[in-house]
Amino acid sequence: YNEIPTGFPEPGKTTVYDTSLTIDLENVPLNGGVLVKTLVLSADPYMRVQMRPVDIESYMPPFIPGQPIFSLGVGKVVRSDRDGFKPEDYVYGLLDHAQYCLANPDAPVFGIRVFVPEPGLRYSAYVGAAGMPGQTSYYGWKEYANAKPGETVFVSGGAGPVGSIVIQLAKRDGLKVIASAGTDEKVKFCKEVGADVAFNYKTTNTLDVLKKEGPLNIYWDNVGGTTLDAAIANAANHARFVECGAISQYNSKEGVNMKNLDQIYARRIILYGFLISDLAPKWEAEFYKIIPKKLASGEIKFSEDITYGLENSGQAIRDVQIGTNTGKKVIVVAQE
Ligand code: NDP
Repeated sequence: YNEIPTGFPEPGKTTVYDTSLTIDLENVPLNGGVLVKTLVLSADPYMRVQMRPVDIESYMPPFIPGQPIFSLGVGKVVRSDRDGFKPEDYVYGLLDHAQYCLANPDAPVFGIRVFVPEPGLRYSAYVGAAGMPGQTSYYGWKEYANAKPGETVFVSGGAGPVGSIVIQLAKRDGLKVIASAGTDEKVKFCKEVGADVAFNYKTTNTLDVLKKEGPLNIYWDNVGGTTLDAAIANAANHARFVECGAISQYNSKEGVNMKNLDQIYARRIILYGFLISDLAPKWEAEFYKIIPKKLASGEIKFSEDITYGLENSGQAIRDVQIGTNTGKKVIVVAQE
């Protein structure tokens, strides 16, 4: 990582793959840590927030210019100097974008942990539907949706790993689901996972759809900006807005001029802003007990969009910001 982007991250400029970084696998001192071989890495929207000056505080630590970037990943333990981790164990947590790294079990957020993949579920799912994005959907929905059968929910970013699981949770709770996504292929996927109404927000007017299909009792917001504005304009009284993310704003310096903020009090809308880390202590055990099994059996559907090779991770990260990913973006670094 070498340069802070002003707009979308640019491979070769803001993210660089450096083959000169090697690690002596036999002799590198572990100092109580764990040496991990990287198998897959995740490219997530929040990584754009980490490309910022190091002295600016935010919810995830900044990337350090000159050092490898890091993201959630699945790896295998090579050597361990820590109880509870042994060679060949699968681990999940923050890993460097490198073939091998000394991973930290004590990181405050997403320190590595050992897991056993559910039979029938590929381990890459543990950075997607069975990992942080799926957890985001499950925790946020359980905690804030207060869903009642027959209500209407709108899910933006409906084809992504977070949105597509929210659609399925909402259908299980008996709601009418409206979903938006940025291509016709993604719209089709929203319908396949259960959305009653799905539309391409680039070719269809969001306000018109919500006016016809609403009012909204719940809005699951993955994108912010003008879509949030349209959802506020079509909210039912006492609607719950689960404020999960605002990807339409991550690469832009100009904010959106919100027109409908006065409707928050007029319609008594409740906005729940949340970070997955706050909710993990309450919901994580239940999530791992229930969701991986349902993913393995196909009862809950998910899709992956694979990029092969660490040298292509910069492009994968950019794809997620621009929206050319179709499903959970996973970077395959090595085979087992
Ligand atoms: P996705 O894999 O779905 O990738 C992001 C998608 O956002 C793109 O594929 C694109 O799809 C869409 N997008 C990009 N630009 C725009 C735009 N200008 N307007 C509308 N949509 C756009 O992401 P995830 O499912 O992993 O994450 C979804 C959201 O959840 C993000 O905002 C993320 O930051 C947030 N999040 C929040 C967490 C929390 O703790 N609060 C934890 C995890 C994720 P399309 O083609 O449809 O435009």
